[in-house]
Amino acid sequence: MDEVAPGVFVATAGLYATTTTIVAGAGGGCLVIDPAVTVADLAALASWLSSRGLRPVAGWSTHPHWDHLLWSRALGDVVRYGTPRAVAAAASQLPALVSEAAQAAPGHDPALFARLEPLSGREIGWAGPRAMVIPHDAHAPGHGAVFLPAAGVLVAGDMCSDAEIPLLDLDAADPFGGYRHGLGVLAGLPGVRVVVPGHGRPGDAAEFRRRVAADFGYLDAVEAGREPADPRLAAGWLRTEHDRQRALLLE
Ligand SMILES: [Zn+2]
Repeated sequence: MDEVAPGVFVATAGLYATTTTIVAGAGGGCLVIDPAVTVADLAALASWLSSRGLRPVAGWSTHPHWDHLLWSRALGDVVRYGTPRAVAAAASQLPALVSEAAQAAPGHDPALFARLEPLSGREIGWAGPRAMVIPHDAHAPGHGAVFLPAAGVLVAGDMCSDAEIPLLDLDAADPFGGYRHGLGVLAGLPGVRVVVPGHGRPGDAAEFRRRVAADFGYLDAVEAGREPADPRLAAGWLRTEHDRQRALLLE
């Protein structure tokens, strides 16, 4: 667990470098964002929380992909939220998401998977630091980043990663335009001092700007039909995703 800002903790799992973010609130309550990813990871998270005297009081799922919809009984029976679009998307694809989770990270309780309440407001109501929801559809329908203005922490979900190229929502009406819009919304937030990607390493303000520029650079190159000079493409699975994204422009 890294304390990326006072009272904001990030754990990075071995599988896909998936991050979990904990925000400490009043009286030992905490907000849990995207707890992930294996059963053992969630058990370790629950015991770390209890060793710190922290108890989940609310959860947030950044987007309707299986590795961001997990929960465990040890984290408690608390309200978990997502944006209304994300909750609807998760519900409509539930069997496929459950089977993806069962393949990649077996053993999770399916009854707790994606049990989300839609939150239509722009702020998570809880007894802790203000947590503003920044909805955008770049990577997935109803993707909702969380910004903690007091700490300057942006929990970006699957955006702004040092390890992953922009991964577009291939089913969107305008995948490139939608991604540019979402990235622009995040880039325009004032006061980001720490960025926490869903996969990869947290970064400071300069690193946030560097990632935003790298992601726009990737989109510029692909849309212009150029091969991006992007070191993140060294990973084989990202090369496959890249080929898929390039193919979209040829349709
Ligand atoms: Zn995702």
